[in-house]
Amino acid sequence: MTTKKATHQLTKQHNRDLVLRTIFSHESISRAEVARVTHLTRTTVSDVVTGLLAEGLVEEIGRGESIGGKSPILLSIVADSRYLIGLNLAQDKFTGAIVNLRGEIKELVEIPVHDDNGENALHLVYQILDQLTRKKLKPIVGIGVGTPGLVNTREGVVINAVNLEWQDLPLSRLLKRKYKLPVLVVNDSQAAAIGEFVYGSDHAPDENLIVVNVIHGIGAGILINGRLFQGDGGGAGEIGHVVVQENGELCRCGQRGCLETVSSARAVVKKVKMSSLDEVFSSFNEGNSKTKAVVEKAGFYLGTSLSNLIGTLNIRKIVLTGDMTRFGVEWLNAVSAAMQTGAFSRMTEDTKLEIGKLNRACILGASAFLLLDNYSLLFNEDN
Ligand SMILES: [Zn+2]
Repeated sequence: MTTKKATHQLTKQHNRDLVLRTIFSHESISRAEVARVTHLTRTTVSDVVTGLLAEGLVEEIGRGESIGGKSPILLSIVADSRYLIGLNLAQDKFTGAIVNLRGEIKELVEIPVHDDNGENALHLVYQILDQLTRKKLKPIVGIGVGTPGLVNTREGVVINAVNLEWQDLPLSRLLKRKYKLPVLVVNDSQAAAIGEFVYGSDHAPDENLIVVNVIHGIGAGILINGRLFQGDGGGAGEIGHVVVQENGELCRCGQRGCLETVSSARAVVKKVKMSSLDEVFSSFNEGNSKTKAVVEKAGFYLGTSLSNLIGTLNIRKIVLTGDMTRFGVEWLNAVSAAMQTGAFSRMTEDTKLEIGKLNRACILGASAFLLLDNYSLLFNEDN
């Protein structure tokens, strides 16, 4: 391809992605409004839209309100024209789903994980994907995986996932070879952050956002100017293994006193000597003072860690997700109080801390990340 032709191709693709992103972010929108938002000419927008209509990705859904002159035709994404697969490998069960272009979960498969690790855990992933790819929903255009641990997203390699005993596992390559689909692998908390950003409560496209996922383990996803920040080694937001207690309890990572050993769901269950978080939750609701104290302490240490994040990044919006959020406002208040006292008050006063309302943020985020990364996978051929 000549340079001139290549440049033309790139511009075309850039315009197409811009128009698609704009239509994606609206329930419905007219061509004129797309042109206004994207600063593209109306002719360019019309050309791109013609292509998207032909691909079946976008449809005309009637007329909008006229603002003088003819009322405009409204465009909308065809939610079920393509499907994505999202996986969450973070908990005591692996979950996979087929998700449409509006982030609606159409099929869900769950497999309990006992002491499965290494090769066994990988086979559970295959089992889920085998089941999902056999479903009638077609075409599936890609697989997004949210996995615990340190991940090199660019290479699609799980560098280290302690629980699963995965080290330098080329997950992306393995899945690509088996399922002949584009695959993206990302840390589960980072995936949850993208899920919250794309499908959660209103977030501006260029917003800064921290999403802290408190489950078995603890991790955060950091979005800067609307883009996931992964750090130099992919581990940005790995706050779970920052030491908060000198000579604290032994963590599964080998260190002592990590945030995970005091603030995670697993730590709380262990500290009150119960067998499940459900049991802890009942005891908490019955007003058991010991349980309450453990939950509040968990919140306290999490809040202290958040104040460090605020002191480092000065990001004003923090969303909490995961199992521990079920302890609601009492837990949130403990987190918030420690956060307020832990950092420069003018900074924490402006920080909005809230519990996320989105279900299955990790799965939704892992699948949405595929598209944010590359809209081309929605198209049959390279056009
Ligand atoms: Zn640790």
